[in-house]
Amino acid sequence: MNELHRVFARLIAATGPISIAHYMAESNARYYAARDPLGTDGDFVTAPEISQMFGELIGLWLADIALRAGAAESACYVELGPGRGTLARDALRVMARTGLAPEVHFVETSPALGAIQRAAHPQALWHQDLSTLPEGKPLLIVANEFLDALPVRQLVRTGSGWRERMVGLAGEALVPVAGDQPMEAAVPGGFGPAPEGAILETSPAAATVVREVAARLVAQGGAALFIDYGHAVSQLGSTLQAVRAHRKVDVFACAGEADLTAHVDFAALVPIAQAQGARWLGTALQGAWLQALGIAARAQALARTSPQAEGDIRAAVQRLTAPEEMGTLFMVMGLAAPGWPDGAGF
Ligand code: SAH
Repeated sequence: MNELHRVFARLIAATGPISIAHYMAESNARYYAARDPLGTDGDFVTAPEISQMFGELIGLWLADIALRAGAAESACYVELGPGRGTLARDALRVMARTGLAPEVHFVETSPALGAIQRAAHPQALWHQDLSTLPEGKPLLIVANEFLDALPVRQLVRTGSGWRERMVGLAGEALVPVAGDQPMEAAVPGGFGPAPEGAILETSPAAATVVREVAARLVAQGGAALFIDYGHAVSQLGSTLQAVRAHRKVDVFACAGEADLTAHVDFAALVPIAQAQGARWLGTALQGAWLQALGIAARAQALARTSPQAEGDIRAAVQRLTAPEEMGTLFMVMGLAAPGWPDGAGF
């Protein structure tokens, strides 16, 4: 039993079960604060760490829309949860080739990853949340595997109606339990008559981020890309998972020592952005989107300059785009300010 597990156990023993959202938020804050979890030696690998092509195509997408909107001079590059800074490095390099040299802003709470980002991007400015991002200038915002790390709330249908799904104690073990407050009022229409045991997951934190991003785009111009694994149609079921050393582990067994994530409900986020007045450019499957942006041509060009890496480049394209790999599991949602043009690939 680790220290965070003991803290949770004491808290639950003293005051009763805690929400899944509380458990996920505290666990991930502890998890990210102290380590770099990315890469083959870590717990998981993300698209920008697989190949430079990912960040390059995102950089081209941002440069293209900013140039067509006439905002290439003034726009800032903003990344939410930039990890090792790899995506930003690749994106900013290709943006520079098209004449864009934006100010760089990172929203990051992890001291460990912040230090790695600082070494890679000494000129960047850091923020704990979106509230301190610059005002009055268009923002080009990227968030890859950021929303999935934010805490989800879960409701469970019991014999006596909907309840919040919580974390309780069985001996020393942390276990999911149903709360005792009726939660009917929190269930969106259409999900009422679900069978007993059904779980309904929502992410108030992801909704808040998308609402803030959309409001910024409307107020000051810009565009945003949210890339994550998720679904385009809201559905029942728990997608909460814990990953450690590239394997799924029990969500409740190693608090703060595994990456807790949940699928992003893109269908729920679109109306939230639109309600602020932002343009929804589309939600595409990652594989189709990267192909539309020309990943095949980029791979050929890279293979021409580094023929010895041709096999690796082909394998990376496969991993990023194939339906049985990241191609259909991951989705890309594009948003823009009203009056901004359509985004490539949607
Ligand atoms: N985008 C990177 C890293 C993904 S991991 C990549 O694709 O490789 C998730 C990132 O989000 C990490 O940088 C983590 O420290 C950061 N993060 C997680 N929760 C956060 C929060 N609540 N606020 C800000 N950053 C957060």
